Amino acid sequence: MNKYKYIYGPVFSWRLGRSLGIDPLSQAEKVCTYDCLYCQVGRASEFKCKRSVFVSTREIMEEIKKLPPVGIDYITFSGRGEPTLALNLGEMIRAVKDVRKEKIAVITNSSLLNEKEVREDLALADLVMAKLDAGTSGSFQSINNPSPDIKFEDMLLGIKKFRRGYKGKFALQIMFVEKNKNEAIELANLCREIKPAEIQINTPLRPSGVSPLSKEELKEIIGCFNNIDGVKVISVYDVEKKKVIPFTKEDTCKRRGKELNK
Ligand code: SF4
Repeated sequence: MNKYKYIYGPVFSWRLGRSLGIDPLSQAEKVCTYDCLYCQVGRASEFKCKRSVFVSTREIMEEIKKLPPVGIDYITFSGRGEPTLALNLGEMIRAVKDVRKEKIAVITNSSLLNEKEVREDLALADLVMAKLDAGTSGSFQSINNPSPDIKFEDMLLGIKKFRRGYKGKFALQIMFVEKNKNEAIELANLCREIKPAEIQINTPLRPSGVSPLSKEELKEIIGCFNNIDGVKVISVYDVEKKKVIPFTKEDTCKRRGKELNK
């Protein structure tokens, strides 16, 4: 019997190194404010925009406490949906920090960053990786397919507010596909305003509903981001991949769209 319901990995992440995942939602279906066209965990049957407790902090901590000795760089809140929808996210980050020495990362789609409580929870993490795939409201609709309750302008304002107050490492993650490949200049201009510590240029290499861009296409896109003062730019094609053996293989595949270590 699998000992872990909420923890998965560790996996090799091109952005984090060896990462152990915590899925604070852990539902059979994706729980998200978006339904991105490239989503690796499948399409959503409905949106969820109101925060609630999906898994108690006690249950997550019971699994954390029985972890075997593993070498990991980050403990990462992510999984089948948007982790900031978990109302107890801040409580979970605090509890994990009390018993583990690794840094904590949260991968968010940015949709709820305009909520003060969400920013307060994320402020407890050492690294926040926030999604920004679109430079305009139109492409936000066609790429991220948000719930009608989430507006592009509010999402962007939330990113800017969080960036201003956050003391940890802030990264913007941009997924490039056919539909936004011509928006690199607009996105680079937004990055100039936001000034993240790092920009992560991605394209869907894991199984998903859309094809990835080629290395050449991504190289051209990266050129638009290369002259932003003091900002590190990394790309999914340029990072050397290392193998990490997960101790929860089946659950890891469920949350990462079948292929590990990408
Ligand atoms: S934000 Fe992430 S989980 Fe949600 S639909 Fe987009 S890719 Fe999928």
